[in-house]
Amino acid sequence: MALRHRIRNREGGTESVRLTPIKAIRLACLECCGWSPKEVTGCTSPLCPLFPYRAGSNPERAGIGGRLGQKN
Ligand code: SF4
Repeated sequence: MALRHRIRNREGGTESVRLTPIKAIRLACLECCGWSPKEVTGCTSPLCPLFPYRAGSNPERAGIGGRLGQKN
């Protein structure tokens, strides 16, 4: 279900990336927070519609597919 799309990148340019909906949310949150993963984790806008998905995963699917405890 991924598709290729051109986005802004942290270097101020653009790049073509393969996007799933959850990856698109993660990248939107990173851009929102100046590309700082730590700032995304500490986001203080819980009413933002993207908030539950900002970590790049669906919290409703935690543990599905053997991803719990997986180190990145
Ligand atoms: S959830 Fe937080 S980091 Fe993500 S877009 Fe919304 S305000 Fe920005």
